[in-house]
Amino acid sequence: MRGYFDTKIEFLKGVGPQKSALLNKELGIFTFGDLLQHYPFRYEDRTQFFNIGDLTDALSNVQIRGSLFQMETIGAGRKKRMTAQLRDDTGQVELVWFKGIKWVQKKLQPGVEYVIFGKPTRYGKKLNIAHPEIEVFTPAHQQSGYLQPVYHTSEVLKSKFLDSKAISKLQKQLLIQALPKVAETLPDEMLYRMGLMSKMEALQHIHFPKDQRYLQKARWRLKFEELFYVQLRLLKLKLARVDKFRSKAFNETALINTFYHQHLPFDLTNAQKKVIKEIYRDMRSGNQMNRLLQGDVGSGKTVVAFICMLTIIGGGSQAAIMAPTEILAEQHYRGLQEYTDKLGLEIGLLTGSTKKKARRELHEKLENGSLDILVGTHALLEDPVKFKSLGLAVIDEQHRFGVAQRAKLWGKNDQFFPHVLVMTATPIPRTLAMTLYGDLDVSVLDELPPGRKPIETVHRYDTNRLKVFGFIKRQIDLGRQVYIVYPLIEESAKMDLKHLEDGYESIQRAFPKLPISIVHGRMKSRDKDYEMQRFVKAETKIMVATTVIEVGVNVPNASVMIIENAERFGLAQLHQLRGRVGRGADQSYCILMTNFKISKEGRTRIDTMVRTNNGFEIADVDLRLRGPGDLMGTQQSGVLDLLIADLSQDGKLLQVARQEAQQLLQEDPDLTDTKNHHIRRQVAQQRQTDINWSRIS
Ligand code: ADP
Ligand code: MG
Repeated sequence: MRGYFDTKIEFLKGVGPQKSALLNKELGIFTFGDLLQHYPFRYEDRTQFFNIGDLTDALSNVQIRGSLFQMETIGAGRKKRMTAQLRDDTGQVELVWFKGIKWVQKKLQPGVEYVIFGKPTRYGKKLNIAHPEIEVFTPAHQQSGYLQPVYHTSEVLKSKFLDSKAISKLQKQLLIQALPKVAETLPDEMLYRMGLMSKMEALQHIHFPKDQRYLQKARWRLKFEELFYVQLRLLKLKLARVDKFRSKAFNETALINTFYHQHLPFDLTNAQKKVIKEIYRDMRSGNQMNRLLQGDVGSGKTVVAFICMLTIIGGGSQAAIMAPTEILAEQHYRGLQEYTDKLGLEIGLLTGSTKKKARRELHEKLENGSLDILVGTHALLEDPVKFKSLGLAVIDEQHRFGVAQRAKLWGKNDQFFPHVLVMTATPIPRTLAMTLYGDLDVSVLDELPPGRKPIETVHRYDTNRLKVFGFIKRQIDLGRQVYIVYPLIEESAKMDLKHLEDGYESIQRAFPKLPISIVHGRMKSRDKDYEMQRFVKAETKIMVATTVIEVGVNVPNASVMIIENAERFGLAQLHQLRGRVGRGADQSYCILMTNFKISKEGRTRIDTMVRTNNGFEIADVDLRLRGPGDLMGTQQSGVLDLLIADLSQDGKLLQVARQEAQQLLQEDPDLTDTKNHHIRRQVAQQRQTDINWSRIS
């Protein structure tokens, strides 16, 4: 019966062309189906009456019942208002009106018993309720209390008499005719097993819940359905990809054993072992691996990637690792070279600044297969870069690379699709990862190598700057280095941000004898790299910078990270910045500087940073503060446009939904079983929008 729900909203009784145009524009409601899916965002509790004697201004909207007396009009002109007292056995409260006084006077009568709904506020010593909803009490009020739905609307709609109440009326009217036509969207077996309400019941009770219990059941059912279909789509995409993209199976272990037993300078953490196993399982399978490896800064992702490369090299293929900047690529190259030297493997570095001759040599070695590992920037995506047999492509710091670039790597092998491992230090809450990367496999390094000293984080006000400078000086005297990061890149007169260069000058004044680096986004990349290198080599002691240093620089000797105007940064960014220190053996510090004026949210961010070093915990707070759409940027927000489920709160349900979808596809991958006909129909309806979906990964 899709047709019926596609009926234009204009044709609902009481709507018509004018209101329909408003509903289209203001709420995106075009059809009957759209209106039914415009769920209430909260409910007013009309199930019980409060005692007037129990009222406090801490309560939100309450329902009370009492008789009216002492109606008065006070003041004149703009200050005119009307008051009335409402009394029950337990006390009395004042009702007050500033507008519509004539109407109120006409409608209300002393001595009559009324039902009042409104918010008590304190006014001097007394409580009053301004502009309450008011109805004459009838025995019906006594018998059936109810939850009144509250709908999102807009100022424009309200001015055209389409307030929440009016929308509720439309819903009621639509439901009466539409409910019998609502088709079930989940299999009976699933409804029964999971104790879910039918779709019909759920729609009825989401709009007009019989009581709290029915409301909860309706919400649960609709949220589950929504999450289930999201997961089903993602998992189907993944199955389709696995079918299409065959790869080569690698199961060589000799090289790994040599490395593991003779050269690995430390024990792997349990998390590293677990993740390596997960990756191996993929690479042995013959299907192309597409795995996202999440691990906090310093959790040891590089060595995991290297160990995985060894099985590829052992199997006669080559591996590549791609980093977002030249500095990072060089760091990887130098780090990995220590390992490859011991194993007698060949490694090369290719970046934008690799000289022509060296470049030609690299190309040759890649094509004849004598080079085992190529480290580089996106220079390695360029066309002349041809591998004899690329078996594994590792992408570090995933968020700097787009989908197209990843696909380009796949094309670097004509015989089979190379395995792909994407590594990121930006923690994404699991629930979000499951949705955003639902068609990728996700591994998590949730443990740091032992012996790391947790970074000590403190919050300091600008007024303590001198003390902070004193601290910087002592750390530098101990031989350490210091980062000072500023939030701005664009100058803006309006924003009260300290200018990077002002900061630089004031630091120069405070430390006149110290060599200081400055790096910001407007510098040429060659100049930037030059300054960074000076700091890496400890020629400069302080690095004054904007957030360009966020990704991956490794200077183990740097032990202090000072973040200016810290309240301006998002949590993910603060965490990334803090990750620049704590990389060596010394105790490291992060100092978050702010002035006294911080928003509540800003304070939550700062407090979270001070409280924990755990990236996933921080990501969860971030998700709660910003909501899922914001967190991932606009690009992917379409995926997260959920009607009723909320990824920041429904993590458990999401997991259940994913499991159900997984199980279903295992048993019936093509959805041909008759018992799954509801699902097949629903999926077919959604297929159109899948075009957008396939772009996600
Ligand atoms: P990230 O995950 O941030 O990329 P790295 O791979 O750069 O982290 O590792 C950070 C440091 O920790 C490196 O110096 C690395 O050699 C070291 N490391 C990695 N794994 C371990 C381990 N299991 N025990 C001790 N040190 C380790
Ligand atoms: Mg790294």
